[in-house]
Amino acid sequence: MRNRVIPKRLAVFFSSAALLLFSVLCSAAGLVLVRTARLPEAPAVQTAESVPQNSVPLLVVDPGHGGQDGGASAEGGDVLEKDLNLAVSGNVADLCAVFGLPVRLTRTEDVLLYDYFGDLDDYTGKQKTYDLKNRLRIAEESGARLLVSVHMNQFPQASCRGFQVYYSPNDPDSRVAAQRIQSAARSFLDRENDREIKPATSAIYLLKHVRIPAVLAECGFLSNPEERALLVSPDYRRRLAAVLFVPAADYLAEQIHD
Ligand SMILES: [Zn+2]
Repeated sequence: MRNRVIPKRLAVFFSSAALLLFSVLCSAAGLVLVRTARLPEAPAVQTAESVPQNSVPLLVVDPGHGGQDGGASAEGGDVLEKDLNLAVSGNVADLCAVFGLPVRLTRTEDVLLYDYFGDLDDYTGKQKTYDLKNRLRIAEESGARLLVSVHMNQFPQASCRGFQVYYSPNDPDSRVAAQRIQSAARSFLDRENDREIKPATSAIYLLKHVRIPAVLAECGFLSNPEERALLVSPDYRRRLAAVLFVPAADYLAEQIHD
């Protein structure tokens, strides 16, 4: 049975613009947050079993790419998507730590995760496939109630820009979470952003196959000069993190059960 008191109170708290503003103000003030959610032996940060009963359920944040897979790039490879994804995800984990929300990152280092579970002796030619399989497996086996995968975009036409969220077609709650994150991006990053959320096609393996509510945020285009300048700014990335964190916390607070 749903606990109808705590979730509502928490939901109101987390969804308040004041919290988002607080996060932005913290970033503006250069507040250094303690990275208690990022342990050296990660990705084993938290599991659902370690989350106390009646707590907000576990959030898994997945910094896309890593290691030899840099993802999108700009400025001759000086700016790599994998590094920005990790930085934004770390900022989300920081916010979770500050507000006492359980969080787990799929990676906290510059690596791919293809050999995380040691399924094969030789991953030649299968690294990308197993990397994605393992991110999915980490999210599902952790008992998380929401997966947020963090990415940056790239397109041949430099004029393309704008934050956009994709959602998994496998659980209706994915669309709910995606819509909230997209709305937060419009309100707090760019009021001109008219992009709409989209269901993932088979091109997005993680969202197509995952069974828990899941979204993938394309946080901006590295191929657009103005947006790239924003994305390489630590202050802007902390605002991005708040845009991901607040709706995620809002959604997860509604999932508390007795
Ligand atoms: Zn990507």
